[in-house]
Amino acid sequence: MPVAISEIFIMFLNQINCPRIDGNLLIPKIMKNLLITLVVSTLFLLPDPALAQKTYVHAGTLIDGISDEPHDRVTIVIEDGVIQSVESGFVEAAPGNEVIDLRNSTVMPGWIDLHVHLEGETNPNRYIEAFTLNPEDRAFRSVLYARRTLEAGFTTVRDLGGSGVNTALRNAIRAGFVDGPRVVSVGKSLATTGGHADPTNNFRRDLMGSPGPEDGVINGVAEARQAVRQAYKNGSDHIKITATGGVLSVAASGQNPQFMDDELEAIVQTARDYGMHVAAHAHGTEGMLRAVLAGVHTIDHGTYMDEEVMAAMVDRGTWYIPTISAGKFVAEMAEEEGYYPPMVAEKAQEIGPQIQETFRKAYEYGVKIAFGTDAGVFYHGDNAREFIYMTEVGMPVMEAIQSATMSAATVLGMEDSIGSVEAGKLADLVAVDGNPLDDVESLTDVTFVMKDGLVYKKH
Ligand SMILES: [Zn+2]
Repeated sequence: MPVAISEIFIMFLNQINCPRIDGNLLIPKIMKNLLITLVVSTLFLLPDPALAQKTYVHAGTLIDGISDEPHDRVTIVIEDGVIQSVESGFVEAAPGNEVIDLRNSTVMPGWIDLHVHLEGETNPNRYIEAFTLNPEDRAFRSVLYARRTLEAGFTTVRDLGGSGVNTALRNAIRAGFVDGPRVVSVGKSLATTGGHADPTNNFRRDLMGSPGPEDGVINGVAEARQAVRQAYKNGSDHIKITATGGVLSVAASGQNPQFMDDELEAIVQTARDYGMHVAAHAHGTEGMLRAVLAGVHTIDHGTYMDEEVMAAMVDRGTWYIPTISAGKFVAEMAEEEGYYPPMVAEKAQEIGPQIQETFRKAYEYGVKIAFGTDAGVFYHGDNAREFIYMTEVGMPVMEAIQSATMSAATVLGMEDSIGSVEAGKLADLVAVDGNPLDDVESLTDVTFVMKDGLVYKKH
């Protein structure tokens, strides 16, 4: 290929070597020399497919996302953003290839957070921002939050609810305009009138209006179907519903059931038809049980999960996404005067502190657990604190890491491309100094991040 291109250029240069009378093609000698320099340097820059560069990552320790034991001294060979092989020992790279020295680090598959909100972040003006921010304002902010999430070691996230900016962010990251994690987006959460994701809860009457299925608010089976199909049309990957009341909406109950059985069934069946799964925000027991029985894929938060719900989840293979981090954060901030409206602060104090204990019970019961934090409710980039909270109440560090790698990949149906360090998987890697199995806090200090074979952080 380089030969063919150079021949064309030489022909071109020969052409401009013959000045014409009209002077149009009289090119000064200096220009010609510049062109020759350009052609020669271009030839050297052209990649030769036979010599495509590989990256050799020398990992002191590898936790691969699948094995229960770490592997010492391995080399991960990467080409075109994909893991080609994982070899024992520090394999020497042929000249021209890149070596990344992580001999003093523990390398893991890029982590996956199944519950984030990249469009926003907690702050005392949160409730005013509904009236002051345009979607483009949220979009610029989301760029920062995405970058912070990636640098914290999370190479894939499931964005569980925003305005649609989250879906545009997904596209921008995918197309390379913005640096961030791979985003799986639900677009806007679906709610019932006055429910947890009704966007005009507690607004003044003339501003409240009556949001409908286009805005993700449904009443009845037909609207449930319409809202799911509209979400699909808007580009959502999956569906999120608010199966019960929630903490941060300005509404009286944080836990009442908010959908009828027929509405839940319509949502789950329609989503299934369109190749989407349903994630259910749920605090209260009754709404949670209805959602599980209707066939949702994940229960998120799960605060008042009782044994009946756990049994139903085990029976149906429903995943639990705990978000202990959010519970702890809102409970703490509720103590601060004026940070939340009084109605919210009361619910935050009641519901927030429960989640870690629910997680402990569900883990002991044998409910399938995958990693999720609700980042955005707290500060983006602090996601890895969830590992600490999970291990505080009995989950071994290795299992907590697996919950954020292979288990989370399985929840997304992406287990063939992410979630482990194996040949054929996308080259998503994260590393920390030292041994996280002995020191879980080290997971909050990520020193290296690679996504799709590109390095986004190294120090
Ligand atoms: Zn959430």
